[in-house]
Amino acid sequence: MNCSFAVCRPDIGCGPDGVNKKIVTLSECCTDISAHMQVIKQCKGSPEIKSEIELIMTRAGLFSKWNDDNTFMTICPQHRFQLGLGFRPNWRGYCEIKLCHATQVKATRTLNMSNVMGAYKQYDKLYPLGSYVCDNCWKQMTTKVTLENFKTDNTACAQLR
Ligand SMILES: [Zn+2]
Ligand SMILES: [Zn+2]
Repeated sequence: MNCSFAVCRPDIGCGPDGVNKKIVTLSECCTDISAHMQVIKQCKGSPEIKSEIELIMTRAGLFSKWNDDNTFMTICPQHRFQLGLGFRPNWRGYCEIKLCHATQVKATRTLNMSNVMGAYKQYDKLYPLGSYVCDNCWKQMTTKVTLENFKTDNTACAQLR
């Protein structure tokens, strides 16, 4: 069994995570995410994301696949950890987006689901949900999109099909 996420997030190497070694089907990923959503300060910011699967899909940029049949998808422990509950924004609290500055700027908020989808449409860049962002960069993320906008979007990780 191969990891489906090796294609869309090759920046993360497939492998074990220290505890788990097995590749599982995505539908087996059903750990409670509420503590994680609080860590990334999304307890109120992203009411759309309710499950570990949706969290992983969002960080992989697979917005159009939310409502699709994803039972064919599989995931290795590393992709599951880094796209899911293992993700942490940088600990010093600096802006990780750097749309309008090259130097370190203190962040004031974290990216929510709407920001991530908007930046993907606007800049063709995938920023991880929960990343720190400063006021000025956040103001550059003006495109408002919803999951509906991605329904017919085949560009995101089309290779998976
Ligand atoms: Zn993998
Ligand atoms: Zn910034």
